[in-house]
Formats: sequence, C-alpha cells, structure tokens
Amino acid sequence: MVASALYIVPTPIGNLDDITLRAIEVLKAATLIAAEDTRHSKILLDKLGIGAVKMISCNDHNEFERVDIIASEVEAGGVVALISDAGTPMISDPGYKLISRLVERGVKVVPLPGPCAAITALCAAALPTDKFLFLGFLPVKDKELTAKLESIAHSDTTTVFYESPRRIMNTLVKLQEIDPHRSVALCREMTKTFESIYRMEVGELISYLQEHTDEVRGEFVLVVGPYEAPEGAEELLSAKAQQALQQLVGPLKVKEACKLVAELTGENRNRLYDYALTLKQEP
Ligand code: SAM
Repeated sequence: MVASALYIVPTPIGNLDDITLRAIEVLKAATLIAAEDTRHSKILLDKLGIGAVKMISCNDHNEFERVDIIASEVEAGGVVALISDAGTPMISDPGYKLISRLVERGVKVVPLPGPCAAITALCAAALPTDKFLFLGFLPVKDKELTAKLESIAHSDTTTVFYESPRRIMNTLVKLQEIDPHRSVALCREMTKTFESIYRMEVGELISYLQEHTDEVRGEFVLVVGPYEAPEGAEELLSAKAQQALQQLVGPLKVKEACKLVAELTGENRNRLYDYALTLKQEP
C-alpha cells in the first residue's frame, strides 16, 4: 500500500535494471506522474508495464504552474511521482521550485534513494569521499569556466561536475593550466555498454583523449581531486614568510593568512598557499 504523497523517484542513468523495487512500486501505484519530459519517460514506463497512467510535464518552464495540480492530487488522496529524464530529480534537473512550494503548502513529500550520476562517479573515482562538493554543470563561457575552476584550485575537497562531450577537452585544458598535476577521474557512460572510468592526472588524461578521440562522446561526470601541495613547498619560501604563516594559519583562514603574508613579505601567493596547506586543512 503506497500512502498518499508526492514521491521523488530516481530512475536509471543507463542500465534499466538499476531501478529500485520501491521506485517500481510507487510508479505502479501512482495516480499521476509528473515527468520532465513525458514522451521520454513513457518509454521507461512502457518497459515497466505501466501503460495507462495520467502524466503531466514538469520542467524548468512550468514548475510553478504544476504546484496546484499536484497539491490537489495529493490532498484528494492520490499518489504523485516526480521523475526526470534520468537519475535523481532536482540534481541538475527540475523539481526544486515545485518541491519547495509543496513543502510550504504542507503537502507530504517522500524522497526515494536511487541512481544519481554524481554519486556513482564519486564512488568510482578512487578520490577522497569523506567530503565533496557537487557543482553541477560547468559554465559554458571561457571566462566563467576559468573562474569556476580557479575557485577549486586550492580546495581540500573532491569536486564533482557534470560536463558535455563537446566541452570536456576545453575544460580539462583549462584545469591543466591552473594545476597541471591535478588528479581527476572522468566517468563516461556509467552503467552503459561503453562505461569507462579514466583515473589519472589531468595532463595524462588530455593526452589519452587526444589519441582516443572516439572516446570523447557520451555522457561524462568529471571528478576533480583535492589540491595537493607539491613536496618541499617550504623550501621555496623565506623563513620570515614561513613564520608568519605558522602564526596566522589557524587564527585566520588559509586564504586570509596568505593574502596578509603576501602583502607583508611580497612572496608569491601560490607558494604561500602551498606551504599554508601543509600547516592546516581548512574545515
Ligand atoms: N539528475 C541526474 C542525476 O541524478 O544524475 C543528472 C541530470 S543532468 C541533466 C545529466 C548529466 O548527468 C549528463 O550531462 C552527464 O554529465 C551526467 N550523467 C547522466 N547519466 C550519466 C551516465 N550514465 N554516465 C556519465 N554521466 C552521466
């Protein structure tokens, strides 16, 4: 028995067998399915033997308009399932505006766990998973792309991005300019026939893809490892700068301490960063 509510239902990101038993149960019980693209989702529903169910679209353009219909359906005792084209709704997919309005209105919202490309890639990357940052799709324009990549230049967490095959090479080149030895994992076509996980330094990955251009296609998640200070960072700094950083990192954030010491000593900010990160990792 599926209780009346709005259910957030993840669907497979490639392999149809990845749908959960609970997702099937909810979709079968649904009196209304709100889908990012009804025609796309109909294919999945047909395969699951769910033919005759009322469907409405719910996408970036009409989410607000769907609030009343969905709330009324649940308030009348119905079961509504929210699905996107693939993976978990709302993760770089529509749904957030709808869910926030429904919650405000007191409608019961039940999330189901299930496939998500970001989490699947993070687990495959062999990079630290104790904390991570998900930044969705990278900006398209070069200036904003560079700014976004620079924002994680000294990050002490793993970062996960969605990226398109058309832009992946440019993105990797920009990342290499910022940090030539950064460890990355490129997760391609996960759960599908041509699933490939490339785990290497960014420069090596660029060379590999230049030689295997037929592999620059399909769907990608780019996982970027945390910044690692080069060995011997302290040897490149004056004793005065080292002492200043030893005093200031802790009371001040790494970034603030480096800015101050750069102003005081005229030392290179990147070298200060490298050394500061050997003293303390930001929380
Ligand atoms: N909501 C989805 C989720 O939970 O993963 C993501 C939707 S977003 C519009 C689609 C992007 O996710 C793709 O462009 C790609 O970056 C990534 N993606 C989805 N499926 C993938 C797969 N099987 N392998 C690699 N990346 C995938």
